[in-house]
Amino acid sequence: MSAARYDAIVIGAGPNGLTAAVTLARGGRSVLCVEAAPTLGGAASTAELTLPGFKHDVFSAVHPAGIASPVFAELNLERHGLRWIQPELAMVHPLADGRGATLSRDLAYTARSLDALGDGDGRRWAQFAGPYLRHFEAVRATMLSRFPPVAGARLLPAFGLQGSLEFVRLLLMPAEALAGEVLRGEGEVWLYGSAMHGDAPLTAAGSAIAGVWLNLLGHVVGWPSPEGGAGGLTGALASLLHELGGETRTNAPATRVLSSRGRVTGVELAGGERIAARTVIATTPPQALIGLAGDALGDSYTRRALRFRFGPQTIKLDWALDAPVPWTNEDARRAGTVHVVGSAEELRSALRDIARGRLPEQPFLLSGQQTIADPTRAPAGKHTMWAYTHTPPGVDWTDWSDWSDRSDRSDERERFADTIERQVERFAPGFRERILARHIMAPGDLAARNASIPGGDVGHGSYAMDQLIFRPVASLSPYSTPVRGLFIGGAATFPGGAVHGVNGRAAARAALREARIPRPPRLRLGRGAERAPPATGRAHRSAGSRLRCRGS
Ligand SMILES: Cc1cc2nc3c(=O)[nH]c(=O)nc-3n(C[C@H](O)[C@H](O)[C@H](O)COP(=O)(O)OP(=O)(O)OC[C@H]3O[C@@H](n4cnc5c(N)ncnc54)[C@H](O)[C@@H]3O)c2cc1C
Repeated sequence: MSAARYDAIVIGAGPNGLTAAVTLARGGRSVLCVEAAPTLGGAASTAELTLPGFKHDVFSAVHPAGIASPVFAELNLERHGLRWIQPELAMVHPLADGRGATLSRDLAYTARSLDALGDGDGRRWAQFAGPYLRHFEAVRATMLSRFPPVAGARLLPAFGLQGSLEFVRLLLMPAEALAGEVLRGEGEVWLYGSAMHGDAPLTAAGSAIAGVWLNLLGHVVGWPSPEGGAGGLTGALASLLHELGGETRTNAPATRVLSSRGRVTGVELAGGERIAARTVIATTPPQALIGLAGDALGDSYTRRALRFRFGPQTIKLDWALDAPVPWTNEDARRAGTVHVVGSAEELRSALRDIARGRLPEQPFLLSGQQTIADPTRAPAGKHTMWAYTHTPPGVDWTDWSDWSDRSDRSDERERFADTIERQVERFAPGFRERILARHIMAPGDLAARNASIPGGDVGHGSYAMDQLIFRPVASLSPYSTPVRGLFIGGAATFPGGAVHGVNGRAAARAALREARIPRPPRLRLGRGAERAPPATGRAHRSAGSRLRCRGS
């Protein structure tokens, strides 16, 4: 073990790792956050991927859950430089003929666009969304709560018994079933596009709420992004952490979690350096945690953690553009996010192709153009755009560009990138002429930049119904592990992915609670029976004083 010693080490400096570290530092603990990548930020980071002066979000770009996050709100990140930029419109889902459905903070505006695609759909959406918008605090507390989601109890005073049961029904609904009740015209695809931010099929339980939650957020808080890029948010978190005395190290992959007699003792980094700590919080997928901690986690936990399933693979493109995207749909020119595929049938066709293991010729794209509202991201007059889509497993994404002889090799990455550009071109004729440069990240490239997203899985684990609730394992304290002092707090835990920091804070709070209330030593009571003595206030204090606290 090196001389270095901290109260706590956090593995991973994404939004959850940094939030966990901040929470521990605010609790008076000395903290080190170790990050494998060369920069802090995890899947909320920004880089010049294409040309100098063009700032691209390497992974996440649009953060409705971030601006709605009670965790970030409490940290006052604006004091550390975070500034939210709202595009005029949150999201547009254009159809191939130029019409489209728009998500606006103005509910009436959205309703008009839905009515234009299906008689009465706007009115029905407003009626459906109205109660949730009026009592949004109760919905937010439920959706952005730690496990167990006891904040859901706030639904009862807000909606009454019947309304609360309706909300539970909504949580279980397939998106197509909800559309059958509310959006009966072509605007149904507006809900499906938002549902596809998750990975549950449109006919599967749990897919409706993914779309409804995002669209409600669009009405209440918009779909904003940090000024200058996603790294602005994690940069603010890191700045707060440093102000609190916490430390960070990049290019520092943890290779082992060290423990002795069921108690964590520290972390080993690549190269063999060992750092001591009584608390370790990993923001890795559970499988990676098993790799780090080895046998110490025990058979039962290991077996359950290895059952955790990842979502689909992802390919992401970033473009530097000479001018804004020339969308045919007027609203799309003013929206931060554009869902590109066309009709519900075109979306279903793309999803069917992926389910059959084929790359679609007309894929469903989640795309964004943050420069329309944030000129700091590109040189004057220039723009950026990104798009990503799910891909089936088994595609050979080898980058042949490094090979001297590529004469008889076709490059699937370049070919599919062309397909993606053709798909954008259908909705924005002239788009390709505006491209100055493009950058492709196939699933392996995304994973190589962030060890927590195998295959570039945007969700950090599938949101099939079982994993919606029990993340990463079925447990009443999913942030704890069988090793005392070792916690897990990344997006693979409840309440799942998106940039909001709830998981990180929940894991850190669990760690702080454990440090305050030590498990009392087991007493042998004869015949091998073991019983714990009652915890006393004295025991709390003495254990607390063993922790090295900053300023104490
Ligand atoms: C392509 C993509 C697009 C997305 N788009 C959005 C979006 O628009 N809006 C949104 O809200 N969410 C989006 N998400 C999801 C969101 O980014 C994540 O849910 C969020 O970043 C999770 O935070 P985290 O801290 O748990 O994990 P991460 O942000 O992934 O951070 C984990 C960190 O841990 C590090 N790490 C892993 N293993 C080790 C190790 N052994 N040692 C040291 N460090 C390690 C990784 O390098 C990484 O930096 C997107 C995700 C992806 C992949």
